Amino acid sequence: MINNLFPPALATLVVLTACAPARVAGPGPVPDPPVAEVESVAAGPVEQDSSAPDDDIESRLVVMARTARGPESPFLPIKPFGVSWSPSPEEGSAFGIVIHQRPTGRVPIAIEGEFAAGVVRFGLIRGQWFGIAAVPIGFSGPHALTLRMRFEDGANYEQKIDISVTPTSFASTNLSVDSRFSSPPADVLERIESEREMVRDLLETVTSQWGLDGPFQTPRPFDVTSPFGQARMFNGELRSRHTGLDLRGQTGAPVRSAGRGRVAFAGNLYFAGNAVYVDHGLGVYTGYFHLSRILVRVGDEVDSGDLVGEVGATGRVTAAHLHWYLSVSGQSLDAGSLLGVHLPE
Ligand SMILES: [Zn+2]
Repeated sequence: MINNLFPPALATLVVLTACAPARVAGPGPVPDPPVAEVESVAAGPVEQDSSAPDDDIESRLVVMARTARGPESPFLPIKPFGVSWSPSPEEGSAFGIVIHQRPTGRVPIAIEGEFAAGVVRFGLIRGQWFGIAAVPIGFSGPHALTLRMRFEDGANYEQKIDISVTPTSFASTNLSVDSRFSSPPADVLERIESEREMVRDLLETVTSQWGLDGPFQTPRPFDVTSPFGQARMFNGELRSRHTGLDLRGQTGAPVRSAGRGRVAFAGNLYFAGNAVYVDHGLGVYTGYFHLSRILVRVGDEVDSGDLVGEVGATGRVTAAHLHWYLSVSGQSLDAGSLLGVHLPE
């Protein structure tokens, strides 16, 4: 367990202490940042600045060389920042975005992003801005990532980057009975509706900083028994989709948190059974369903790999397994994609 996971520090303070300690070493006003080229950059497409001093170009290349990770993690230089992402974006998945700052450059006090018509929230991890973007089902092909950065003096900088999303062929299964005719009894419907609302409110609650500090890990050995997004068909019509990823496990087998965070829910739900949701910050939640035992309480701070429960068959399931769930800004996504996300090092 961890203390002070989400310290109530101001974003500005975090930026300055994390990214530019030399400038805030003593009391008194913060000196003017040494690099001012950002003010000359208007919103919109940005061209390479051929007038940039040699040492600036050099430091940019150093950053690129240090952070590039090969073709799966493209690195595009933008002025005066670079951006890389991982894993390669796929329909129905999440991917991580790192903004690489020049060592001598100015530090933004806020970054907001947009991708595939959704917001991308950025927070600092080890002094670098990091965000997790959602690619909902139905989005593929090129989509613009828009990044807006704000500086202490009010200057703004905007950059658009096209990122290509690979379409996913989701698995499909035929229902033998139409779910409309096998729906729960009327007295249960009220419970289902109130739980649906509670969970939706929970997943739309945004903690203002990352709880994460290291890579995600699988909550069980990565043995998938039913993939995310699997279509449930009846008479050729889509009835529903699998909102999670099922991992094999016998009743009582350990279930571990996929990342550092705070337990946001631990209790029993009609469909999910005994369920735990972990808040990783900035609108990113993982869920662990159908547990036989819950081993955490709401408010507990968990590290990546900490036990949250044991595999079970509670809720509307026929056999024991772990249903691993991911929500980014209220969008259900393939939790397995988290395993390819590189966080700032
Ligand atoms: Zn499932």
